[in-house]
Amino acid sequence: NTFAEIDLGNALNENIRRCKYVKPTPVQRHAIPISIGGRDLMACAQTGSGKTAAFCFPIISGIMRGPPAQRPRGARTVYPLALILSPTRELSVQINEEARKFAYQTGVRVVVAYGGAPINQQLRDLERGVDILVATPGRLVDLLERARVSLQMIRYLALDEADRMLDMGFEPQIRKIVEQMDMSPRGVRQTMLFSATFPKEIQRLASDFLSNYIFLAV
Ligand code: AMP
Repeated sequence: NTFAEIDLGNALNENIRRCKYVKPTPVQRHAIPISIGGRDLMACAQTGSGKTAAFCFPIISGIMRGPPAQRPRGARTVYPLALILSPTRELSVQINEEARKFAYQTGVRVVVAYGGAPINQQLRDLERGVDILVATPGRLVDLLERARVSLQMIRYLALDEADRMLDMGFEPQIRKIVEQMDMSPRGVRQTMLFSATFPKEIQRLASDFLSNYIFLAV
């Protein structure tokens, strides 16, 4: 059971090899086939379990193999195809760095946007084009209100450390963000919810955001 045996697309398989990942971790071994298969996923996984790759690989692979996106042009609004929400600047930066390594030479563009830092550089990064947006909830709401980002074309949504996002009080922002995707005319979103714990509040998010999902605890 190695990554070489899982066909994620040549460029991505090559990047995985370059990262010296040989064997999938337990969460990767289960989550990747579920997500590649198109199912929504609720995964209970701790930091250090390899969850970043578990949600990045299916997203990158799906974007590489999916139909070309017909994105609206004009204005300054960008239309990412995937959104990864994370609770903190530090975690967003970390996810962005990993995702960029995995997306190297795939043509899939990754941009990060987090709060507590000037927005201007992030706006310039977005203007150069974005397929996967890694963001903290507050900063993303700001970008949506400025109409600099639209979630109309989102095909993949990953929520990382969802329990921590709720502890930090981000539930209203998260709900606002997901509502914008539900208004999308396409409505074909695949969602992955990752959390270290599975209390009532997370169960509620899972039943509100996921459809017909598979529950995974590793
Ligand atoms: P994460 O839980 O996503 O923060 O990953 C924890 C650490 O494990 C990171 O440094 C990853 O680069 C590394 N890692 C993740 N998956 C694998 C794997 N299959 N083989 C080797 N290292 C990995």
